[in-house]
Amino acid sequence: MFWADAAVKDLIGEQRISTGISPSGPIHVGNMREILTGDILYKAVIKRGLKSDFIYLCDDMDPLRKVYPFLDQSYSKYVGFPLKNIPSPDGVGVYSDHFLNPFIEVMRKTGIPARVIKTSDLYGNGILADAIDTVMERRSEIKDILEKITGRMIEGDFYPYEPLCEKCGRINSTSVISYKYPYAEYTCKCGHHGFADIRRAEGKMPWRIEWPAKWYALKVSIEPFGKDHGAPGGSYDTGKRIAREIFGIEPPLPLVYERIMLKGKGAMHSSTGLAIPASEIIDVMPPELLRFLIARVNPSRHIDFDPGLGLLNLFDEFERYLNKYREGDIDGDSKAIIEYSLIEKEKLSYPIDFRHLITLIQIYQKKEDILRAAMASTKDQLDESALYDEIKYAKNWLERYAPDNVKFKLLAIDEKAELSDQDRAILSKFLEVSNSMAWDSNEIHSTVHNVAKDLGIGPDAAFSTFYKVFIGKERGPRLGYFLFNLGKDFTIARIKSVLGGNS
Ligand SMILES: [Zn+2]
Repeated sequence: MFWADAAVKDLIGEQRISTGISPSGPIHVGNMREILTGDILYKAVIKRGLKSDFIYLCDDMDPLRKVYPFLDQSYSKYVGFPLKNIPSPDGVGVYSDHFLNPFIEVMRKTGIPARVIKTSDLYGNGILADAIDTVMERRSEIKDILEKITGRMIEGDFYPYEPLCEKCGRINSTSVISYKYPYAEYTCKCGHHGFADIRRAEGKMPWRIEWPAKWYALKVSIEPFGKDHGAPGGSYDTGKRIAREIFGIEPPLPLVYERIMLKGKGAMHSSTGLAIPASEIIDVMPPELLRFLIARVNPSRHIDFDPGLGLLNLFDEFERYLNKYREGDIDGDSKAIIEYSLIEKEKLSYPIDFRHLITLIQIYQKKEDILRAAMASTKDQLDESALYDEIKYAKNWLERYAPDNVKFKLLAIDEKAELSDQDRAILSKFLEVSNSMAWDSNEIHSTVHNVAKDLGIGPDAAFSTFYKVFIGKERGPRLGYFLFNLGKDFTIARIKSVLGGNS
């Protein structure tokens, strides 16, 4: 059974799936695993016929922890400030929105209907006040739970609340000294002494307590989270006990997911800059392909993401799945993978193979010419606007992530390649037989093969000859398709011109 269907198969009653992020930096492809896992679970619950709700919590009360590599040094004065109270790096609006807003757009494009809730609103509207009051009153039990599960002793008085200092603006430099509903009395390292109202956004609970408090206040029943939280002694372990023993609720059904690794570089982290923002990747791959990347791998396994050649392989794999799906020749898990990947149910194919399109857009500049060439290569009716979308992804991919061996540029007519005797023999033989051959990719491919064979030359060497002549490189795109798209007249004229140079 597909992983999401298996995860929800025994649930009964209405469900609420919660996901979230601390918007301290660009929300990246690695973070997509959290929200897409949540989205797929949300859809799996609906598929089971249960009522389902889906939220995405933006933890904008979290403090800025340090000056990240992508920030100006002047941000050192904001370390310890809640993210929502810090100016945006681009000077417009606030820090947390600067990173959240592009991601909301990604959610829209990828068909994720989560309701976005800012944690500052949960505090500001008093939605967490009951939970805060409870944990403040029962702080010694909570302290015991934390100490027992983490194995770390907590020094001094323990209050599970961090007031926001009204004088210096920091939320990481205060200590509560007394509590009487609704006020937490605090002192700050800056010398200030004040009172924070727990019914307003004047402070926050520490993460390990805030998490179960959210489950309680928002009635969360399912939550996917990264394996760091799920480790023994981690925040799910403490949250589970706080949920049961302090709030008297069952913790949500957990779904622990592994990381997405950037191929050859490691796990993505916005704090180190080793990450591709989700808002950028959505420019180079269709949203259903991004869904497929995550849906097809069980959450317990990590995903290697390679935005270079790997993206083409992913495209190939997706098209194989789509073909099988269309033909009804597909197993249950693969069928579920496709259904959870698609955004528009009827969009079961791409206008043209992505690899072929990568070749076409390097031969032709104008999109009308690309359209004409694409039409010549398929018997199916072409959806023009879908093709233009695909061209946009292909161009962005070529520009940003394509490895050099995929890129080529046709040589100008006066840029003649240096030919060896063997090259000449291959080209002359090809000219001889070209009159009688049909000009289609397969036929061109096998003709070059046969020419090589007749001359006792390896096929790779023969292919290289053609690449040398047309793009000045040893390797290139699939030759049959490439020459087919250049057209017979152009191909023959260029070969004649190259051969004619010394004759
Ligand atoms: Zn202060």
